Amino acid sequence: MLIIHSDKCTACGICETSCAFGAITIQNDCAVVNECCTLCGACVENCPTQALSIETAEKRKQVDIDNYSGIMVFAEYRHGDVAPVSYELLGIGRKLADKRGVKLSVVLPGGNVTSYASGLIAAGADTVLLVEHPMLEQFREDIYAAVLEQVIGEHKPEVVLAGATAIGRSVIPYVANAIDAGLTADCTRLEIREEDGMLLQTRPAFGGNIMATIECPHTRPQMATVRPKVMAPAVPDLSRTGEIFQVQVPERCLQSKIEVLDSVINHDDQVNIQEVETLVAGGRGLESEKGFTLIRALAHELGGAVAASRAAVDSGWIPYPHQVGQTGKTVSPKLYIACGISGAVQHAVGMQSAEIVVAINRDSEAPIFNIATYGVVGDLYEVVPQLIKRLQEIKK
Ligand SMILES: Cc1cc2nc3c(=O)[nH]c(=O)nc-3n(C[C@H](O)[C@H](O)[C@H](O)COP(=O)(O)OP(=O)(O)OC[C@H]3O[C@@H](n4cnc5c(N)ncnc54)[C@H](O)[C@@H]3O)c2cc1C
Repeated sequence: MLIIHSDKCTACGICETSCAFGAITIQNDCAVVNECCTLCGACVENCPTQALSIETAEKRKQVDIDNYSGIMVFAEYRHGDVAPVSYELLGIGRKLADKRGVKLSVVLPGGNVTSYASGLIAAGADTVLLVEHPMLEQFREDIYAAVLEQVIGEHKPEVVLAGATAIGRSVIPYVANAIDAGLTADCTRLEIREEDGMLLQTRPAFGGNIMATIECPHTRPQMATVRPKVMAPAVPDLSRTGEIFQVQVPERCLQSKIEVLDSVINHDDQVNIQEVETLVAGGRGLESEKGFTLIRALAHELGGAVAASRAAVDSGWIPYPHQVGQTGKTVSPKLYIACGISGAVQHAVGMQSAEIVVAINRDSEAPIFNIATYGVVGDLYEVVPQLIKRLQEIKK
Protein backbone atom coordinates (compact mmCIF):
# COMPACT_ATOMS: atom_id res chain seq x y z
CA MET A 1 0.00 0.00 0.00
CA LEU A 2 1.28 3.50 -0.86
CA ILE A 3 1.33 5.69 2.23
CA ILE A 4 1.24 9.47 1.87
CA HIS A 5 2.72 11.35 4.84
CA SER A 6 0.74 14.57 4.47
CA ASP A 7 2.89 16.35 7.09
CA LYS A 8 5.93 15.98 4.79
CA CYS A 9 4.22 16.59 1.43
CA THR A 10 5.05 19.99 -0.10
CA ALA A 11 2.72 19.49 -3.12
CA CYS A 12 5.72 19.94 -5.45
CA GLY A 13 4.09 17.61 -8.03
CA ILE A 14 7.25 15.55 -8.75
CA CYS A 15 5.38 12.36 -7.81
CA GLU A 16 2.60 13.22 -10.27
CA THR A 17 5.03 13.64 -13.18
CA SER A 18 7.09 10.57 -12.25
CA CYS A 19 4.06 8.24 -12.16
CA ALA A 20 3.65 6.35 -15.44
CA PHE A 21 0.15 5.16 -14.49
CA GLY A 22 -1.59 8.44 -13.69
CA ALA A 23 -2.09 7.04 -10.19
CA ILE A 24 -1.03 10.06 -8.15
CA THR A 25 -2.26 13.64 -8.33
CA ILE A 26 -1.97 16.77 -6.23
CA GLN A 27 -5.25 17.81 -4.69
CA ASN A 28 -5.71 20.47 -2.01
CA ASP A 29 -1.94 20.83 -1.59
CA CYS A 30 -1.29 17.17 -0.96
CA ALA A 31 -0.57 14.03 -3.03
CA VAL A 32 -3.54 11.68 -3.49
CA VAL A 33 -3.27 8.13 -4.83
CA ASN A 34 -5.94 6.33 -6.84
CA GLU A 35 -6.70 2.71 -7.82
CA CYS A 36 -4.29 2.79 -10.82
CA CYS A 37 -1.30 2.51 -8.45
CA THR A 38 0.85 -0.56 -9.18
CA LEU A 39 3.22 0.01 -6.25
CA CYS A 40 6.09 0.39 -8.74
CA GLY A 41 7.82 2.75 -6.32
CA ALA A 42 8.79 5.47 -8.85
CA CYS A 43 7.08 8.21 -6.84
CA VAL A 44 8.72 7.04 -3.60
CA GLU A 45 12.18 7.18 -5.22
CA ASN A 46 11.60 10.62 -6.68
CA CYS A 47 9.96 12.35 -3.73
CA PRO A 48 12.47 14.91 -2.39
CA THR A 49 10.87 15.11 1.07
CA GLN A 50 10.28 11.38 1.78
CA ALA A 51 6.56 12.07 1.95
CA LEU A 52 5.75 8.73 0.31
CA SER A 53 6.42 5.15 1.36
CA ILE A 54 5.24 1.67 0.46
CA GLU A 55 4.02 -0.44 3.33
CA THR A 56 4.77 -4.06 2.55
CA ALA A 57 2.78 -7.10 3.60
CA GLU A 58 5.86 -8.20 5.53
CA LYS A 59 5.80 -5.05 7.63
CA ARG A 60 2.06 -5.24 8.23
CA LYS A 61 1.64 -8.84 9.12
CA GLN A 62 4.73 -10.56 10.41
CA VAL A 63 3.95 -9.95 14.07
CA ASP A 64 0.65 -11.80 13.94
CA ILE A 65 1.78 -15.16 12.55
CA ASP A 66 2.01 -16.95 15.91
CA ASN A 67 -1.61 -16.07 16.70
CA TYR A 68 -2.91 -18.26 13.88
CA SER A 69 -3.54 -21.98 14.28
CA GLY A 70 -5.55 -24.72 12.58
CA ILE A 71 -6.69 -25.57 9.08
CA MET A 72 -10.02 -24.22 7.82
CA VAL A 73 -11.99 -25.42 4.80
CA PHE A 74 -14.67 -23.34 3.08
CA ALA A 75 -17.43 -25.80 2.14
CA GLU A 76 -19.69 -24.81 -0.74
CA TYR A 77 -23.40 -25.46 -0.74
CA ARG A 78 -25.13 -25.33 -4.11
CA HIS A 79 -28.12 -26.87 -5.90
CA GLY A 80 -29.32 -28.50 -2.67
CA ASP A 81 -26.11 -30.23 -1.64
CA VAL A 82 -22.58 -29.68 -0.40
CA ALA A 83 -20.28 -29.50 -3.45
CA PRO A 84 -18.07 -32.62 -3.87
CA VAL A 85 -14.92 -30.47 -3.84
CA SER A 86 -15.59 -29.73 -0.16
CA TYR A 87 -14.96 -33.40 0.70
CA GLU A 88 -11.78 -33.34 -1.37
CA LEU A 89 -10.62 -30.29 0.62
CA LEU A 90 -11.44 -32.06 3.87
CA GLY A 91 -9.35 -35.04 2.71
CA ILE A 92 -6.22 -32.92 2.17
CA GLY A 93 -7.12 -30.63 5.10
CA ARG A 94 -7.14 -33.61 7.47
CA LYS A 95 -3.65 -34.65 6.32
CA LEU A 96 -2.28 -31.12 6.79
CA ALA A 97 -3.91 -30.79 10.22
CA ASP A 98 -2.53 -34.16 11.38
CA LYS A 99 0.96 -33.30 10.22
CA ARG A 100 0.84 -29.98 12.09
CA GLY A 101 -0.99 -31.44 15.09
CA VAL A 102 -3.79 -28.88 14.84
CA LYS A 103 -7.57 -28.94 14.37
CA LEU A 104 -9.45 -29.03 11.10
CA SER A 105 -12.51 -26.81 10.92
CA VAL A 106 -15.00 -26.32 8.12
CA VAL A 107 -17.20 -23.29 7.56
CA LEU A 108 -20.46 -23.83 5.72
CA PRO A 109 -22.57 -20.78 4.90
CA GLY A 110 -26.07 -21.39 3.56
CA GLY A 111 -29.80 -21.13 4.14
CA ASN A 112 -30.56 -24.32 6.03
CA VAL A 113 -27.49 -26.48 6.19
CA THR A 114 -27.47 -28.10 9.64
CA SER A 115 -28.21 -31.54 8.23
CA TYR A 116 -24.83 -31.60 6.43
CA ALA A 117 -22.75 -31.12 9.58
CA SER A 118 -22.47 -34.82 10.51
CA GLY A 119 -21.27 -35.67 6.99
CA LEU A 120 -18.56 -33.02 7.25
CA ILE A 121 -17.39 -34.47 10.57
CA ALA A 122 -17.36 -37.98 9.07
CA ALA A 123 -15.19 -36.54 6.28
CA GLY A 124 -12.56 -35.37 8.77
CA ALA A 125 -13.65 -32.06 10.31
CA ASP A 126 -13.11 -31.55 14.05
CA THR A 127 -15.29 -28.45 14.10
CA VAL A 128 -18.17 -27.44 11.86
CA LEU A 129 -19.05 -23.75 11.74
CA LEU A 130 -22.53 -23.34 10.30
CA VAL A 131 -23.52 -19.85 9.22
CA GLU A 132 -27.24 -20.09 8.50
CA HIS A 133 -29.30 -17.17 7.25
CA PRO A 134 -31.93 -16.69 4.51
CA MET A 135 -29.55 -14.15 2.88
CA LEU A 136 -27.01 -16.93 2.42
CA GLU A 137 -29.40 -19.25 0.59
CA GLN A 138 -28.26 -17.90 -2.79
CA PHE A 139 -24.60 -17.26 -3.47
CA ARG A 140 -23.73 -13.57 -3.38
CA GLU A 141 -20.08 -12.67 -3.57
CA ASP A 142 -20.22 -9.67 -1.25
CA ILE A 143 -21.99 -11.28 1.70
CA TYR A 144 -20.19 -14.61 1.39
CA ALA A 145 -16.91 -12.66 1.43
CA ALA A 146 -18.01 -10.63 4.47
CA VAL A 147 -19.10 -13.77 6.33
CA LEU A 148 -15.84 -15.59 5.60
CA GLU A 149 -13.82 -12.54 6.60
CA GLN A 150 -15.72 -12.41 9.89
CA VAL A 151 -15.29 -16.15 10.63
CA ILE A 152 -11.59 -16.13 9.68
CA GLY A 153 -11.04 -13.03 11.82
CA GLU A 154 -12.61 -14.75 14.84
CA HIS A 155 -10.98 -18.17 14.49
CA LYS A 156 -7.60 -17.15 13.03
CA PRO A 157 -6.73 -20.34 11.11
CA GLU A 158 -3.18 -20.64 9.76
CA VAL A 159 -4.48 -22.13 6.49
CA VAL A 160 -7.73 -21.58 4.58
CA LEU A 161 -8.62 -23.91 1.69
CA ALA A 162 -11.37 -23.37 -0.88
CA GLY A 163 -12.38 -25.00 -4.14
CA ALA A 164 -11.14 -23.47 -7.39
CA THR A 165 -14.75 -23.49 -8.54
CA ALA A 166 -16.78 -20.60 -9.96
CA ILE A 167 -17.82 -19.74 -6.38
CA GLY A 168 -14.40 -20.22 -4.78
CA ARG A 169 -12.64 -18.32 -7.52
CA SER A 170 -14.92 -15.34 -7.17
CA VAL A 171 -15.24 -15.05 -3.39
CA ILE A 172 -11.81 -16.06 -2.05
CA PRO A 173 -9.81 -13.28 -3.73
CA TYR A 174 -12.22 -10.77 -2.08
CA VAL A 175 -11.49 -12.30 1.31
CA ALA A 176 -7.73 -12.52 0.79
CA ASN A 177 -7.65 -8.89 -0.26
CA ALA A 178 -9.78 -7.79 2.69
CA ILE A 179 -7.55 -9.52 5.25
CA ASP A 180 -4.22 -8.83 3.48
CA ALA A 181 -3.47 -12.52 3.13
CA GLY A 182 -1.52 -14.29 0.40
CA LEU A 183 -3.57 -16.46 -1.95
CA THR A 184 -2.41 -19.16 -4.36
CA ALA A 185 -5.04 -20.09 -6.93
CA ASP A 186 -5.60 -23.44 -8.62
CA CYS A 187 -3.24 -25.56 -6.54
CA THR A 188 -2.69 -29.14 -7.64
CA ARG A 189 -0.63 -30.23 -4.62
CA LEU A 190 -0.45 -29.06 -1.01
CA GLU A 191 2.01 -29.99 1.70
CA ILE A 192 2.86 -28.42 5.02
CA ARG A 193 6.21 -28.02 6.73
CA GLU A 194 5.78 -29.51 10.17
CA GLU A 195 8.21 -27.25 12.01
CA ASP A 196 6.99 -23.81 10.92
CA GLY A 197 3.59 -24.54 9.35
CA MET A 198 4.62 -23.21 5.95
CA LEU A 199 2.06 -24.29 3.37
CA LEU A 200 3.83 -25.47 0.22
CA GLN A 201 1.37 -24.65 -2.53
CA THR A 202 2.14 -26.22 -5.89
CA ARG A 203 0.42 -25.13 -9.09
CA PRO A 204 1.16 -25.06 -12.83
CA ALA A 205 2.90 -21.90 -14.02
CA PHE A 206 4.00 -20.45 -17.36
CA GLY A 207 1.22 -22.11 -19.37
CA GLY A 208 1.54 -25.38 -17.48
CA ASN A 209 5.13 -25.95 -18.55
CA ILE A 210 6.54 -25.87 -15.02
CA MET A 211 5.16 -26.55 -11.56
CA ALA A 212 5.78 -23.72 -9.09
CA THR A 213 5.75 -24.19 -5.32
CA ILE A 214 4.65 -21.03 -3.58
CA GLU A 215 5.09 -20.02 0.08
CA CYS A 216 3.49 -17.14 1.95
CA PRO A 217 6.05 -16.55 4.70
CA HIS A 218 4.87 -13.21 6.02
CA THR A 219 1.08 -13.32 6.17
CA ARG A 220 -1.61 -15.46 7.73
CA PRO A 221 -3.81 -17.24 6.96
CA GLN A 222 -2.15 -18.92 4.00
CA MET A 223 -4.97 -19.19 1.49
CA ALA A 224 -5.20 -21.60 -1.41
CA THR A 225 -7.84 -22.67 -3.89
CA VAL A 226 -7.67 -26.27 -5.10
CA ARG A 227 -9.01 -27.53 -8.39
CA PRO A 228 -11.89 -30.02 -8.11
CA LYS A 229 -10.95 -33.67 -8.70
CA VAL A 230 -7.27 -33.12 -8.02
CA MET A 231 -7.31 -34.31 -4.39
CA ALA A 232 -8.84 -37.62 -3.31
CA PRO A 233 -12.09 -37.12 -1.38
CA ALA A 234 -12.04 -38.00 2.32
CA VAL A 235 -13.22 -41.52 3.04
CA PRO A 236 -16.17 -41.00 5.43
CA ASP A 237 -15.73 -42.40 8.93
CA LEU A 238 -19.13 -42.40 10.62
CA SER A 239 -17.58 -43.11 14.02
CA ARG A 240 -15.78 -39.73 14.08
CA THR A 241 -17.03 -37.10 16.50
CA GLY A 242 -16.72 -33.35 16.35
CA GLU A 243 -18.22 -30.07 17.49
CA ILE A 244 -20.94 -28.19 15.63
CA PHE A 245 -21.42 -24.45 16.15
CA GLN A 246 -24.09 -22.12 14.84
CA VAL A 247 -22.16 -18.94 14.07
CA GLN A 248 -23.94 -15.61 14.33
CA VAL A 249 -22.47 -12.90 12.16
CA PRO A 250 -23.18 -9.16 12.55
CA GLU A 251 -26.05 -7.81 10.42
CA ARG A 252 -23.62 -5.64 8.46
CA CYS A 253 -22.07 -8.84 6.99
CA LEU A 254 -25.45 -9.73 5.52
CA GLN A 255 -26.04 -6.50 3.60
CA SER A 256 -25.71 -7.16 -0.11
CA LYS A 257 -25.56 -4.87 -3.13
CA ILE A 258 -26.60 -7.84 -5.24
CA GLU A 259 -30.22 -8.72 -5.84
CA VAL A 260 -30.70 -12.29 -7.05
CA LEU A 261 -33.65 -12.23 -9.46
CA ASP A 262 -33.53 -15.86 -10.44
CA SER A 263 -31.19 -18.79 -10.29
CA VAL A 264 -31.25 -21.31 -13.12
CA ILE A 265 -29.16 -24.38 -13.72
CA ASN A 266 -27.19 -24.27 -16.95
CA HIS A 267 -28.25 -27.42 -18.79
CA ASP A 268 -24.83 -27.68 -20.40
CA ASP A 269 -23.45 -27.93 -16.88
CA GLN A 270 -25.80 -30.74 -15.98
CA VAL A 271 -23.56 -33.34 -17.56
CA ASN A 272 -20.77 -32.89 -15.13
CA ILE A 273 -17.77 -34.47 -16.80
CA GLN A 274 -16.03 -34.56 -13.42
CA GLU A 275 -18.55 -36.99 -12.01
CA VAL A 276 -18.67 -39.72 -14.69
CA GLU A 277 -16.56 -42.89 -14.98
CA THR A 278 -16.18 -42.89 -18.77
CA LEU A 279 -15.34 -39.94 -21.00
CA VAL A 280 -14.96 -39.87 -24.75
CA ALA A 281 -13.16 -36.70 -25.76
CA GLY A 282 -12.87 -35.05 -29.15
CA GLY A 283 -10.29 -32.56 -30.38
CA ARG A 284 -9.36 -30.57 -33.44
CA GLY A 285 -8.81 -33.85 -35.28
CA LEU A 286 -12.63 -34.13 -35.59
CA GLU A 287 -12.35 -31.31 -38.11
CA SER A 288 -15.94 -30.10 -37.60
CA GLU A 289 -18.86 -29.98 -35.18
CA LYS A 290 -20.34 -33.02 -36.94
CA GLY A 291 -17.47 -35.12 -35.59
CA PHE A 292 -19.07 -34.90 -32.15
CA THR A 293 -21.99 -37.00 -33.43
CA LEU A 294 -19.53 -39.86 -33.66
CA ILE A 295 -18.00 -39.04 -30.25
CA ARG A 296 -21.52 -38.93 -28.69
CA ALA A 297 -22.38 -42.28 -30.26
CA LEU A 298 -19.30 -43.93 -28.73
CA ALA A 299 -19.97 -42.27 -25.37
CA HIS A 300 -23.57 -43.54 -25.54
CA GLU A 301 -22.44 -47.14 -26.18
CA LEU A 302 -20.09 -46.94 -23.19
CA GLY A 303 -22.61 -45.20 -20.90
CA GLY A 304 -20.25 -42.24 -20.61
CA ALA A 305 -20.18 -38.52 -21.35
CA VAL A 306 -18.50 -36.30 -23.91
CA ALA A 307 -15.44 -34.16 -23.22
CA ALA A 308 -13.32 -31.96 -25.48
CA SER A 309 -10.04 -30.19 -25.94
CA ARG A 310 -9.90 -26.41 -25.91
CA ALA A 311 -9.32 -26.39 -29.67
CA ALA A 312 -12.73 -28.04 -30.16
CA VAL A 313 -14.39 -25.65 -27.67
CA ASP A 314 -12.74 -22.57 -29.19
CA SER A 315 -13.95 -23.71 -32.63
CA GLY A 316 -17.51 -23.57 -31.25
CA TRP A 317 -18.15 -27.28 -31.81
CA ILE A 318 -19.10 -27.96 -28.19
CA PRO A 319 -19.78 -25.72 -25.16
CA TYR A 320 -17.14 -24.83 -22.58
CA PRO A 321 -18.44 -27.03 -19.70
CA HIS A 322 -17.08 -30.01 -21.69
CA GLN A 323 -13.53 -28.65 -21.84
CA VAL A 324 -10.79 -30.62 -20.11
CA GLY A 325 -7.49 -29.07 -19.15
CA GLN A 326 -5.73 -26.21 -17.51
CA THR A 327 -8.42 -23.66 -18.34
CA GLY A 328 -11.18 -26.27 -18.34
CA LYS A 329 -11.99 -29.03 -15.89
CA THR A 330 -9.76 -31.60 -14.25
CA VAL A 331 -11.21 -35.09 -14.66
CA SER A 332 -10.22 -38.48 -13.31
CA PRO A 333 -12.54 -41.05 -14.90
CA LYS A 334 -11.85 -44.76 -15.04
CA LEU A 335 -11.68 -44.58 -18.86
CA TYR A 336 -10.72 -41.58 -21.03
CA ILE A 337 -10.78 -42.03 -24.80
CA ALA A 338 -9.01 -39.17 -26.59
CA CYS A 339 -9.96 -38.91 -30.26
CA GLY A 340 -8.03 -36.53 -32.48
CA ILE A 341 -6.36 -34.83 -29.49
CA SER A 342 -2.62 -34.19 -29.66
CA GLY A 343 -2.06 -34.27 -25.87
CA ALA A 344 -0.69 -30.74 -25.34
CA VAL A 345 0.50 -30.19 -21.78
CA GLN A 346 -2.45 -27.87 -21.04
CA HIS A 347 -4.85 -30.66 -21.99
CA ALA A 348 -2.84 -33.39 -20.28
CA VAL A 349 -2.89 -31.66 -16.85
CA GLY A 350 -6.66 -32.04 -16.87
CA MET A 351 -6.88 -35.75 -17.68
CA GLN A 352 -3.65 -37.51 -16.85
CA SER A 353 -5.01 -38.94 -13.61
CA ALA A 354 -7.58 -41.01 -15.55
CA GLU A 355 -7.15 -44.70 -14.72
CA ILE A 356 -7.03 -45.86 -18.36
CA VAL A 357 -6.32 -43.55 -21.29
CA VAL A 358 -7.01 -44.72 -24.83
CA ALA A 359 -5.65 -42.47 -27.59
CA ILE A 360 -6.81 -42.55 -31.19
CA ASN A 361 -4.63 -40.38 -33.38
CA ARG A 362 -3.28 -40.68 -36.89
CA ASP A 363 0.08 -39.20 -35.89
CA SER A 364 2.16 -41.87 -34.14
CA GLU A 365 4.40 -39.09 -32.71
CA ALA A 366 1.52 -37.26 -30.98
CA PRO A 367 2.38 -36.56 -27.29
CA ILE A 368 -0.92 -38.14 -26.19
CA PHE A 369 0.71 -41.53 -26.79
CA ASN A 370 3.15 -40.75 -23.95
CA ILE A 371 0.21 -40.67 -21.52
CA ALA A 372 -1.95 -43.35 -23.14
CA THR A 373 -2.39 -46.81 -21.64
CA TYR A 374 -3.49 -48.03 -25.08
CA GLY A 375 -2.88 -46.27 -28.37
CA VAL A 376 -4.47 -46.69 -31.77
CA VAL A 377 -2.59 -45.05 -34.65
CA GLY A 378 -5.21 -44.42 -37.29
CA ASP A 379 -7.96 -42.21 -38.66
CA LEU A 380 -10.60 -41.71 -35.98
CA TYR A 381 -13.31 -41.76 -38.67
CA GLU A 382 -12.30 -45.38 -39.36
CA VAL A 383 -11.43 -46.50 -35.82
CA VAL A 384 -14.38 -45.05 -33.86
CA PRO A 385 -17.16 -46.55 -36.08
CA GLN A 386 -15.47 -49.95 -35.75
CA LEU A 387 -15.37 -49.58 -31.98
CA ILE A 388 -19.08 -48.66 -31.90
CA LYS A 389 -19.93 -51.60 -34.14
CA ARG A 390 -17.96 -54.01 -31.95
CA LEU A 391 -19.58 -52.71 -28.76
CA GLN A 392 -23.04 -53.13 -30.30
CA GLU A 393 -22.16 -56.70 -31.32
CA ILE A 394 -20.97 -57.51 -27.81
CA LYS A 395 -24.20 -56.10 -26.34
CA LYS A 396 -26.30 -58.24 -28.65
C1 LIG B 1 -2.76 -20.77 -21.21
C2 LIG B 1 -3.31 -21.90 -22.04
C3 LIG B 1 -4.32 -22.67 -21.50
C4 LIG B 1 -4.82 -23.75 -22.25
N1 LIG B 1 -5.81 -24.52 -21.69
C5 LIG B 1 -6.22 -25.61 -22.37
C6 LIG B 1 -7.20 -26.49 -21.82
O1 LIG B 1 -7.75 -26.26 -20.73
N2 LIG B 1 -7.55 -27.57 -22.52
C7 LIG B 1 -7.00 -27.89 -23.75
O2 LIG B 1 -7.37 -28.91 -24.33
N3 LIG B 1 -6.11 -27.05 -24.30
C8 LIG B 1 -5.71 -25.93 -23.67
N4 LIG B 1 -4.83 -25.10 -24.26
C9 LIG B 1 -4.49 -25.31 -25.69
C10 LIG B 1 -3.46 -26.38 -25.91
O3 LIG B 1 -2.17 -25.81 -25.84
C11 LIG B 1 -3.65 -27.03 -27.29
O4 LIG B 1 -3.61 -26.03 -28.26
C12 LIG B 1 -4.95 -27.80 -27.41
O5 LIG B 1 -5.10 -28.71 -26.35
C13 LIG B 1 -4.93 -28.56 -28.75
O6 LIG B 1 -6.14 -29.22 -28.92
P1 LIG B 1 -6.21 -30.51 -29.82
O7 LIG B 1 -5.32 -31.56 -29.26
O8 LIG B 1 -7.65 -30.82 -30.00
O9 LIG B 1 -5.68 -29.96 -31.23
P2 LIG B 1 -4.31 -30.23 -31.96
O10 LIG B 1 -3.15 -29.97 -31.08
O11 LIG B 1 -4.39 -29.49 -33.23
O12 LIG B 1 -4.32 -31.78 -32.24
C14 LIG B 1 -5.18 -32.42 -33.14
C15 LIG B 1 -4.72 -33.85 -33.23
O13 LIG B 1 -5.64 -34.58 -34.01
C16 LIG B 1 -4.92 -35.50 -34.81
N5 LIG B 1 -5.80 -35.81 -35.97
C17 LIG B 1 -6.17 -34.99 -36.97
N6 LIG B 1 -7.04 -35.60 -37.78
C18 LIG B 1 -7.22 -36.84 -37.27
C19 LIG B 1 -8.00 -37.95 -37.69
N7 LIG B 1 -8.83 -37.89 -38.73
N8 LIG B 1 -7.92 -39.08 -36.95
C20 LIG B 1 -7.10 -39.16 -35.87
N9 LIG B 1 -6.34 -38.14 -35.44
C21 LIG B 1 -6.41 -36.97 -36.13
C22 LIG B 1 -3.65 -34.79 -35.16
O14 LIG B 1 -2.64 -35.75 -35.47
C23 LIG B 1 -3.35 -34.02 -33.89
O15 LIG B 1 -2.51 -34.77 -33.02
C24 LIG B 1 -4.31 -24.02 -23.55
C25 LIG B 1 -3.30 -23.22 -24.06
C26 LIG B 1 -2.79 -22.19 -23.32
C27 LIG B 1 -1.70 -21.34 -23.89
